[in-house]
Amino acid sequence: MQFAANGNNERLEAGPEAPKVAKCPQCGYTVTLRGRKQFRRNGDKTWFYRHKQGFPKTCSLRSGPPGR
Ligand SMILES: [Zn+2]
Repeated sequence: MQFAANGNNERLEAGPEAPKVAKCPQCGYTVTLRGRKQFRRNGDKTWFYRHKQGFPKTCSLRSGPPGR
């Protein structure tokens, strides 16, 4: 997902300056920051948060790059 939450339940937007580890705002599970190269835009990276393994499958927030 593009947004995660920190310990104060504030919204964090994924990006190069964002914390490497945060929480899923939906299920509270740990999420980690990922960067994926975007080939359309001069090597810019797409940043997103992804659940750590073992997250509740009931969480409706998708892991992975935004827009898929
Ligand atoms: Zn979740």
